[in-house]
Amino acid sequence: MSKESPLAFGPARPAIERFRTSMPPLLPPHLLAGYHKFITGRYVTESEHYRSLAREGQAPETMIIACCDSRTAPETVFNAGPGELFVLRNVANLVPPYEPDGEFHSTSAALEFAVQSLRVKNIVVMGHGRCGGIKAALGKAAPLSPGDFIGKWMSLIAPAANTVATSTMMTATERQTALERISIRYSIANLRTFPCIKILEDKGKLTLHGAWFDISTGELWAMNKETGDFERPEIG
Ligand SMILES: [Zn+2]
Repeated sequence: MSKESPLAFGPARPAIERFRTSMPPLLPPHLLAGYHKFITGRYVTESEHYRSLAREGQAPETMIIACCDSRTAPETVFNAGPGELFVLRNVANLVPPYEPDGEFHSTSAALEFAVQSLRVKNIVVMGHGRCGGIKAALGKAAPLSPGDFIGKWMSLIAPAANTVATSTMMTATERQTALERISIRYSIANLRTFPCIKILEDKGKLTLHGAWFDISTGELWAMNKETGDFERPEIG
């Protein structure tokens, strides 16, 4: 890639050439290969759309709160294009309660921007099957890490996790799915503790949704707003 022009779409420098010059790759080679495909493929075929987004700015109607899990990218699951989804991802797609305490709150900051600046019309909390964060919260797995943050983060759903974990009426798989879905309802309840969200929802200008994606089957389940149950929505 030319240093002078970021739009000079030459082939990515072969790895062997970089080896000869003893230069470490600026980015992992598989990322550069992927970028090359993008910039010579989709970016070209959708160039007018990208130019329009650059000119007009983004105006996504939907915010998705999803897990960091590499298998559940919302843009892939919903086949979304650039500018379509405002995506926030964190471990286990959790929303903490509204806490204006002067501390650092990345999830709350993203919510504030989406709701107050972008004026999104929908917020979807999307959980997924086989979530490592949820599994760790159930206490049936080793902690995700020995670090300082994940345990504290997952303690957001500790009461629900403890209740589900001690249930003798469910199998391990059922407990996992149950907590994945309970945590979605919990996050939606916490969304309503944000005054800006509650006000807009009450005015009918913002709708909150829950969804759950099954990695193994590709099934998408949606939360029934009346019952809180998850159902397969009609598609196609
Ligand atoms: Zn997850």
